[in-house]
Amino acid sequence: MRCDWVHGYWVHWQWVRCEKGFGMSVNAWIVVGDQPAIGNLITVARSLGGDGTIAAVVAGPRAVAETVAASGVDRVVWCGTPDGSPAEASAPAVAEAVAADPPRVVLGGRNPGDRVLLGAAAAALHAAVLTGARSVTVGADTVTVVNAVYGDISDETVEISGPVALLLDGGSVPAASGAGVPIEEVTATPYGVKVLETIPSEFEEVDLNAAQRVIGVGRGLKAKEDLSLIEALAAALKAEIACSRPVAEGLNWMGKDRYIGSSGARISPQLYLAVGISGQLQHMVGVTGAETIVAINSDPNAAVFAQTDYGLVGDLYELVAEITSVLK
Ligand SMILES: Cc1cc2nc3c(=O)[nH]c(=O)nc-3n(C[C@H](O)[C@H](O)[C@H](O)COP(=O)(O)OP(=O)(O)OC[C@H]3O[C@@H](n4cnc5c(N)ncnc54)[C@H](O)[C@@H]3O)c2cc1C
Repeated sequence: MRCDWVHGYWVHWQWVRCEKGFGMSVNAWIVVGDQPAIGNLITVARSLGGDGTIAAVVAGPRAVAETVAASGVDRVVWCGTPDGSPAEASAPAVAEAVAADPPRVVLGGRNPGDRVLLGAAAAALHAAVLTGARSVTVGADTVTVVNAVYGDISDETVEISGPVALLLDGGSVPAASGAGVPIEEVTATPYGVKVLETIPSEFEEVDLNAAQRVIGVGRGLKAKEDLSLIEALAAALKAEIACSRPVAEGLNWMGKDRYIGSSGARISPQLYLAVGISGQLQHMVGVTGAETIVAINSDPNAAVFAQTDYGLVGDLYELVAEITSVLK
């Protein structure tokens, strides 16, 4: 057996004993909605071993199917969803395609449309659904998954004798590899779901993983207007701004893609500066990959100080202003 570290997952693999009707055809299906960001799913599917194919079923626009067809998968089925309908309207067709050639493992990304498609495929296969897989081992008769539980602070090992549906980080859009595979088009009647209105997010999207310096803001900040203080520091430090979960979900001061932790983003910047953050485990697991962690907190007993390289005990309003002025 081999172990590989693949996009944040330990993937254990061994060659699968192929028996008639199980493992010979499709080894893994990947379900895709209207975003072709499935690089990680392809890598995980390939790492499962076996000599079956990696197939993808796409419910989004034709352009998504074309990107997926050129991404290195062995087979692509496209259930074109009519204009004005969301990809999840094609959930029955996606489930049918997957069930027609049942896999050991079906993989889907975390965005809302992909979750619906994965759920439909899992229901059609009577598959176990797991949402926090850290590692997957495909054996001759069972699939073993080490799954994160309790907000990512513990693991459980699950052994499943039937098919398994895994919800994982999709990763990035895969680079085109070669000429690609032909697209098999299926026509199916979608659910009568229509998009009535699209409301753009009030928050600007951010890729925290691209930032070398990140300032995390917590509930120590008293008011949304005070974010201007953090913005000034971020400009001086050339840093991106992130936050704890309650700042994004609850206070709604920032977009949900900015919160860090077990249910948010996991980042590995050179510097993470936690400002007014208590340091609960669910937050700090998101920055374990940071090279240097610094915290500012007025409570000398705050849990964050046990997990940082440097700590500044004091009022964030005074300290942030002081650091900004020194940096300027
Ligand atoms: C299943 C589950 C999943 C979760 N997932 C996440 C997650 O992914 N990410 C996440 O962030 N949280 C997550 N949480 C919530 C997490 O447990 C904490 O509640 C949250 O991280 C606390 O946010 P905070 O540190 O901003 O606020 P608080 O815990 O309220 O801390 C505020 C801190 O600010 C300090 N402070 C106050 N005033 C000042 C001042 N003037 N100057 C300096 N410091 C000051 C205080 O001393 C305190 O330490 C999850 C919880 C559960 C149950």
